[in-house]
Amino acid sequence: MIVKIAALLVLLYIAYKVLVIFRRMKSADATAYRANSTPSQGEDLVQDPFCKTYVPKSQAYVRQIEGHNTYFCTLECCEKYLEVKNKSH
Ligand SMILES: [Zn+2]
Repeated sequence: MIVKIAALLVLLYIAYKVLVIFRRMKSADATAYRANSTPSQGEDLVQDPFCKTYVPKSQAYVRQIEGHNTYFCTLECCEKYLEVKNKSH
């Protein structure tokens, strides 16, 4: 009888340990996910007016348009944006 209770306690202890490890893994995943969704912390995000994508300022392609700094995700988007802009004028 005592052996059975001891075995049950060991099982409960193992189950508890597994739960703790599992929880720790889950929170680590959540942290990694958060780190990925914000590429560089504290950096300004700028919106590409053509494709509406948000890009970190340092990685954006900058072009002076009508005296304003306009940020694009790529040179391609910039050219397409200018093309559309010129057509509408
Ligand atoms: Zn773009």
